[in-house]
Amino acid sequence: MKVLVINAGSSSIKYQFLESATGEVLARGVAERIGVGDSVLKHSLNESDPIVFKDDMPDHKVAIQTVLQALVAPEHGVISSMDEIDAVGHRVVHGGENFASSVLITPEVKRAIKSCFELAPLHNPPNLIGIEACEESMPGVPQVAVFDTAFHQSMPAMAYMYALPYGLYEKYSIRRYGFHGTSHSFVSHRAAEIIGKPYESLKIITCHLGNGSSIAAVHNGRCVDTSMGMTPLAGICMGTRCGDIDPAIVTFLIEKEKTDAATVENMLNKESGVLGLSGVSSDFRDLYDAAGIGNKRASLALDMFKYQCRKMIGSYAAAMGGVDAVVFTAGIAENNADIRSGACAGLEYMGIKLDPYKNNATRAKEAIVSTDDSRVKVLIVPTNEELAIARETARICGASSVRSS
Ligand code: ADP
Repeated sequence: MKVLVINAGSSSIKYQFLESATGEVLARGVAERIGVGDSVLKHSLNESDPIVFKDDMPDHKVAIQTVLQALVAPEHGVISSMDEIDAVGHRVVHGGENFASSVLITPEVKRAIKSCFELAPLHNPPNLIGIEACEESMPGVPQVAVFDTAFHQSMPAMAYMYALPYGLYEKYSIRRYGFHGTSHSFVSHRAAEIIGKPYESLKIITCHLGNGSSIAAVHNGRCVDTSMGMTPLAGICMGTRCGDIDPAIVTFLIEKEKTDAATVENMLNKESGVLGLSGVSSDFRDLYDAAGIGNKRASLALDMFKYQCRKMIGSYAAAMGGVDAVVFTAGIAENNADIRSGACAGLEYMGIKLDPYKNNATRAKEAIVSTDDSRVKVLIVPTNEELAIARETARICGASSVRSS
């Protein structure tokens, strides 16, 4: 099935057009600066350099139409008519407690996505705008929502509740939701395939370490805990996000700095994490460069990141009563051997034995990097959220009868 995967942000739309069965990417690109002037579409076929169109895109509907024109254009298109788009899969960040799986988009589903606006004010509104722009531009083509939170909906209450007055959960839906679910699901399934054991029989810890980082515990095929919380600010420290801190720091800072909650929240989201600690960068490559020439705060940021990963792996092994596989994915964990070995350091007592040669020799490709006698398998599995969304879309559309005309 040919699926158009859409990731709509407030002023951008990222897309991939792919064959869900084989994973072949027919085209990919991004429409940028939608509605803010000087908009531009960068459209690539396979791995080729992007063709750049400087088209005026005052809103998301025009942006989607520009993407569709690029897909059908005789000179650089990949399909001869829009009829060849079998379905559209949308990344939707927050599904709240409404969705434990991907769904075919209906008016009711759109209302439920809207009801989560407060929980994800930066993401869900543009996600819905992207859905409506596609509905208008491709009437009759099935649209599917794939939620970042869905995979984590299987967590038990003892993992997702906060020890706050219970009424706040009932009134505002305050609880842990978790994010990166599409990635945690994709890489944990793939890890089971690589190990050659049934997914439902394994205890897997997945470490998605990228610009945003989260770790999840997957027990017998179900997510039972994850490090991000009601928002993606929680868990291990990240590029610019603080991760878990004592909540009293927030009120302390508001008082001491004579500032307001929004300013502190912005600082915790955008000026903290390894950037805030090091004062150097949120990019781990810059941190390694700085640490290499003696920058102590860059070294501290790297040490803290590895320590927090290690602590989370240990706590999830405790939560599941053991672990069979630790999986590393996303930009930092796929590319950096030192982060992987730091995250596993000292965990030999749990049966985690990294093979230094395999670990150092592998980058951005699937591999088992533990020793042959390691009781726990340690794997690198590059994530592919677009392919996961395309497959989910094909699964939901299953019957070709979904398309109406
Ligand atoms: P996103 O969450 O935006 O999808 P990615 O998964 O692409 O993020 O990860 C981006 C991060 O990967 C960058 O911040 C960069 O620090 C990190 N990264 C990429 N290559 C390396 C590397 N060789 N060593 C350490 N970090 C790396």
